Amino acid sequence: MTAAQLKEKIIAYSKDIGIDKIGFTSADPFLSLKDRLLEQQRLQYQSGFEENDIEKRTTPKKLVPEAKTIISIALAYPSKMKNPPKSRKGERRGVFCRASWGEDYHRVLKNRLQKLEAYIQELVPEAKCQSMVDTGELADRAVAERAGIGWSGKNCAIITPEFGSYVYLGEMITTVSIPADTPVTEQCGTCNKCVDACPTGALVQGGQLDSNKCIAYLTQTKDFLPKRYRKKLGNRLYGCDTCQQVCPENKGVDSHRHEEFEPDPELVKPKLMPLLELSNKEFKQKYGRLAGSWRGKKPIQRNAVIALGHFKAEESIELLSRLLTNDPRPVIRGTAAWSLGQMNTADTQKLLEQAKQSETDEKVLEEIDDALLPFPLH
Ligand code: SF4
Ligand code: SF4
Repeated sequence: MTAAQLKEKIIAYSKDIGIDKIGFTSADPFLSLKDRLLEQQRLQYQSGFEENDIEKRTTPKKLVPEAKTIISIALAYPSKMKNPPKSRKGERRGVFCRASWGEDYHRVLKNRLQKLEAYIQELVPEAKCQSMVDTGELADRAVAERAGIGWSGKNCAIITPEFGSYVYLGEMITTVSIPADTPVTEQCGTCNKCVDACPTGALVQGGQLDSNKCIAYLTQTKDFLPKRYRKKLGNRLYGCDTCQQVCPENKGVDSHRHEEFEPDPELVKPKLMPLLELSNKEFKQKYGRLAGSWRGKKPIQRNAVIALGHFKAEESIELLSRLLTNDPRPVIRGTAAWSLGQMNTADTQKLLEQAKQSETDEKVLEEIDDALLPFPLH
């Protein structure tokens, strides 16, 4: 079998197992990415969630020494849900980003890549393959770009001509030689909508992201969220879709190709107050299958507390006050103080004063003091 015939077979099989797009590139090092990552490191723009070793991220042969090809795959996910519940006064809701609407994509893509590995090894028994999704060493987007899946937009997402940027990416390094595809030409042109729309100015220049300012990253942190970002978080519980929503390339794009990625509206746009009452076990049972649960319930609940403050949801005063005095986690107590401070009523001021009497944690006391200011700090 020639390399071109092998490629045709792999493409046909990928369609059979529900891979929406597949592309191929060489296992050569990613030299321009290396420069960009070094620059990102110099500017301290990394999130800390990524692989630290830049050599590993940019040199596929460091992972599989006889690597010849990298196969990039994309699966499309929905951008709209049917009958989304409304966030109403008295019953406020938070929201998970679209990439965390369905079943954890790491699991789904890993499963597709494993099937693909088995198929390749059936055709080429001596083939060695190593697959990864998001948490692997290789940079998914750089691979997808070079393999012709899409172009890298100024919003740092890979934009496919067929499914916009609403795609999950994964890749496989293999020792099999397969002809490479041609990269898609970048088409942002003079558009700058994502950069202008980003609430925190995290898209520093087109194509460069300061992760420390990016809400998608900030929603996943576990500590106190810096005050300057709390209002900007709005009702986001996990992730941020703004720079994808404004992108003209995503206009009218809404792919419902995989049952696994269909959202349960009550789960991904949940009422905020019940979310704050969940035990660890209940949280795991309800949210364990979503990608957004990977950091546990603390960041999601902290964000839910911020969302209640954002809405000035007075119906939650009793609950926030309970969290402020009883929750064992200082981050939750301190953030509850901030939210009560946003409401700034006689009742909330009294509750904050009372909590101050028994609080011993310095950071929480600082939050209470700030919340007691006549014009709470943002
Ligand atoms: Fe900005 Fe949100 Fe996009 Fe991050 S995900 S760059 S915060 S718009
Ligand atoms: Fe490119 Fe415009 Fe989309 Fe940003 S919004 S990624 S600039 S096309």
